[in-house]
Amino acid sequence: MKRRIIILGAGESGTGAALLAKAKGYDVFVSDFGIINEANKAKLVQAEIPFEEGKHTEELILNAHKIIKSPGIATSVEIVQKAFAKNIPLIDELEFASKYTKGKIIAITGTNGKSTTTMLTYHILKEAGLSVGLGGNIGKSMAGQLISQDYDWWVLECSSFQIDGFVDFKPHIALLLNITPDHLDRYDYKVENYVASKFSLFKNQDKADYALLYTEDNLIKANLAKHQFASKLLELKFEDIPYEGAYANPSGIIINLNEQRHTFSQDLLTIKGKHNQTNAMASILTSKLAKIKNERIADSLPKFKSIQHRLESVGSIHGIEFINDSKATNVDAVYYALDAFTRPIIWIVGGVDKGNDYSQLDVVSTNVKAIICLGKDNTKIKEHFKNRCPIIEETQSMEEAVKMGYKLSKDREIVLLSPACASFDLYKNYEDRGNQFRLAFQLLEREIELK
Ligand code: ADP
Repeated sequence: MKRRIIILGAGESGTGAALLAKAKGYDVFVSDFGIINEANKAKLVQAEIPFEEGKHTEELILNAHKIIKSPGIATSVEIVQKAFAKNIPLIDELEFASKYTKGKIIAITGTNGKSTTTMLTYHILKEAGLSVGLGGNIGKSMAGQLISQDYDWWVLECSSFQIDGFVDFKPHIALLLNITPDHLDRYDYKVENYVASKFSLFKNQDKADYALLYTEDNLIKANLAKHQFASKLLELKFEDIPYEGAYANPSGIIINLNEQRHTFSQDLLTIKGKHNQTNAMASILTSKLAKIKNERIADSLPKFKSIQHRLESVGSIHGIEFINDSKATNVDAVYYALDAFTRPIIWIVGGVDKGNDYSQLDVVSTNVKAIICLGKDNTKIKEHFKNRCPIIEETQSMEEAVKMGYKLSKDREIVLLSPACASFDLYKNYEDRGNQFRLAFQLLEREIELK
């Protein structure tokens, strides 16, 4: 009898997993509690994979040998609890897909910086001519790609929800960039559970593998000693290190590996701010572990374009630069954004508060000359900054926020959208918010040109 796999959630990863499972001869059924998008539905129909939407039918689900659960579905959901009770293994798409690759896996996690580091690593490996695929929490699913193509290397962005579905997943290079409390609603409001999730990325590694950690991060530092690493531990730091790993100083990024030192000038980097130094250290060190020559790395770095919605410069008007950091949905990401500029900032902030502690920004918000609150409820922001920032304005229109930003700024200053909050009070998602910012900038630019 064919082994039965149930896919819970037919998004990008679930649909990819369903198609791969079918191609590998499993009896597959897809169940989505919401509405499946038309493109994914068409793929399931074409592959003759049965599915249901708007419900989870227990009789069809709880006789599975294995369930591949979308990372978006919380373990507290009833059907998941029932599957647990029946001891049905619940795994992630990447866990399933990784069984079908002959390639080496680079897995990247952290509260912030995953996408940037994943994209930069992928960029360097690809530019160097390696056979490399991209997957995980970004772009196309690994499972879906594996139906037609495998690569020698896979660079995978891993969220903690994905890591929670890892059983035997074994990355050759695993990277932990930082940990700041986030998504605690999925971790019983316990930071230690979230930390444990992040550290479990290393659990199946062996001595031929590498664990790369940014050890100046407070929660990583505090928890490092509690974890046993079977793999080789390489640290990322800002202080010169006598041991192996990477560090950054104002002139360069230095890799210490196998008693050799490799130096890369800061001028090669196209991404700004201290946080991006960590991301660059991680990507360059990974590229050295993939045995890429220094010249190839140095050639590829200046060609990397920062990704949309992450400190993305959308343009300048009369020397005032407009920066879209819509992806900064927590205070920690904003900390690094404010810290990335020495020029005065007009800061557009606000949205749905996720339990933010704005006092974490006191050190870096000194160059904020005005705040424009862009949210339905701005009480917490106004309360915290009322005696710290001379100008605080409020609006619920992006167009108006961008115009205000322009009016409040002088030459060489910065108008920065870095919200510290989720977007769904006024926007569909962070991309929508960032796109609206870019659009508002373009409208303003035209208006000024026409004057
Ligand atoms: P993720 O995929 O983990 O959400 P992104 O690369 O999309 O990370 O960046 C999200 C936000 O976090 C951006 O606003 C960015 O400026 C900020 N950020 C990026 N890298 C780091 C880092 N290493 N530490 C802290 N914040 C970061």
